[in-house]
Amino acid sequence: MSESDIGHRAAEMTTGPEGGFPAQQQALPGSTTAMEPVPDHGEQSWVGRGRLEGLRTLITGGDSGIGRAVAIAFAREGADVAINYLPEEQEDAEDTAGWVRKAGRTAVLCPADLTERRSCDEVVAAAVEGLGGLDVLVNNAGVQFARDDGLEAMSDERIDRVLRTNLHALFWLTRAALPHLGRGASIINVSSIQAYEPSTSLLDYASTKAAINNFTVNLAAEVGARGIRVNAVAPGPIWTPLQPATQEEAKIEAFGADTPLGRAGQPGELAGAFVFLASPREASYVSGTVLGVTGGKPVF
Ligand code: NAD
Ligand code: MG
Repeated sequence: MSESDIGHRAAEMTTGPEGGFPAQQQALPGSTTAMEPVPDHGEQSWVGRGRLEGLRTLITGGDSGIGRAVAIAFAREGADVAINYLPEEQEDAEDTAGWVRKAGRTAVLCPADLTERRSCDEVVAAAVEGLGGLDVLVNNAGVQFARDDGLEAMSDERIDRVLRTNLHALFWLTRAALPHLGRGASIINVSSIQAYEPSTSLLDYASTKAAINNFTVNLAAEVGARGIRVNAVAPGPIWTPLQPATQEEAKIEAFGADTPLGRAGQPGELAGAFVFLASPREASYVSGTVLGVTGGKPVF
């Protein structure tokens, strides 16, 4: 299947006959099989070309959505993959691991809640042990709560969960991973269009994504002399369990329609950005950058 066919297929899946998604809701952390339509993670389309041969990679939130698409592409490109996820996402995680093993690569499962510092240390240790080292860390786990009731109504629990998941864990995981990373290794953080064009309903989440951009550029400067690259990917609206689990139901139907391409993206459409940034050959001089995959929304 050619890449233009993949694009056409994704466009068909995300628009449907009525031009939107069926209204639907889930509870966090969300499940892939409960989604209608089930997202496209590149299962039938990604063709590996050995671009990440032998790399040992850890992907947080690798059970579903963007993380699953990255895991499938990384494995088909020759990488071994450890994934972290919440314990209640075991079913999704096993599906992802199945695709990695089907590609002939090692899959290591590391369930843990990353809002605790000790868990972040343990996840990195388990990945290093299971893979025999670490070359690429993808800080992809994230959470949001989209509610338009304003900052004054925002609970301590919500602020705490969003900041700990999206930011504290980023610091803890990266700090634990760095001693294991050598020359040619890299870190890829997951930002968002929300860092550039924030929605009031995502005040806390958007702030964390702007901070992730700043962290990315600054850490790239810190570790560049060690030959370690640090980059980020900023997705636009992507059809993943996070959306029906956190967006208001009324907003799901037109999800992504406000982009220049006029539709939401599928997780599989993100994988190319991650494979490129992880590739020590193709992205050897790329560090401190944020690569937008937004359906045309500006990331500057
Ligand atoms: P997703 O729900 O498939 O993935 C998010 C994952 O984060 C979950 O699978 C879960 O395993 C993990 N996670 C959440 N809280 C955790 C915790 N406390 N401990 C451990 N893991 C935890 O959704 P996704 O959209 O693929 O999200 C992946 C990343 O993409 C997130 O950082 C998100 O902010 C970012 N993003 C998504 C979109 C979008 O439209 N879907 C847009 C911009 C950025
Ligand atoms: Mg999940």
